[in-house]
Amino acid sequence: MTRPTPLIAGNWKMNGSGAALAEARAVADGLAGVTARVAICPPAVLVSRAADALAGGPVEVGGQDIHPKASGAHTGDISAEMLVDAGATLVILGHSERRADHGETDADVAEKVRAALRAGLEPIVCVGETLAQREAGDALKVVTGQVRASLPPELADAAFSVAYEPVWAIGTGLTPTTPQIEDVHHAIRTTLTHMFGPAGEKAPILYGGSVKPSNAAEILNAAEVGGALVGGASLKAEDFLGIIRAV
Ligand code: PEP
Repeated sequence: MTRPTPLIAGNWKMNGSGAALAEARAVADGLAGVTARVAICPPAVLVSRAADALAGGPVEVGGQDIHPKASGAHTGDISAEMLVDAGATLVILGHSERRADHGETDADVAEKVRAALRAGLEPIVCVGETLAQREAGDALKVVTGQVRASLPPELADAAFSVAYEPVWAIGTGLTPTTPQIEDVHHAIRTTLTHMFGPAGEKAPILYGGSVKPSNAAEILNAAEVGGALVGGASLKAEDFLGIIRAV
């Protein structure tokens, strides 16, 4: 089967102000000859301005979370429909920081995935083990369990991606070895194919966790790695472009 178009998505997390949109525009300006899909997921308050700044160009805009409901009495939350209205086409769901900081369960993530599909947003669903889970030899069991419980059956008819982000590699400068990444990505692919048939065979499986220009080529060329979810290194156009050009 042909390799799906790689996706390189930048997760700005709770970083960036209006001034940072210049970095987003610099990324768009630097994409000549790049075949990968590229997305930037800024904080919610910047989604609309980012979409305006990047309109008509090659960089897509995504959100970092949504509430499962379309509207209602949910102070501080935003819905999938609101993200679409602001110009987003993708959304990161189930990031380990949301699972840890906000107690999001796999069932919560699955509900948010359904909400994203309802609104026409393409989900990037994050999974990954903690260091304790890896050291206990449970990485594959944990990750495939998260995939099974966080991805609802409706994805069989949808475009989506899964991001494998070992919690211990996020923002730490640590990365798994290439064989460790390949083992987990193979296990995710097998699980996705079993769950979703052809849609599961073609969904990109992104790697995330301390990706930087110096390690991007090795990671992105590993088997079953279909792109990257990039945190810290997506905040500077030069670094993000260094990763994108490694595809
Ligand atoms: C992330 O949190 O999605 C991430 C991959 O972060 P970093 O690249 O900073 O490790």
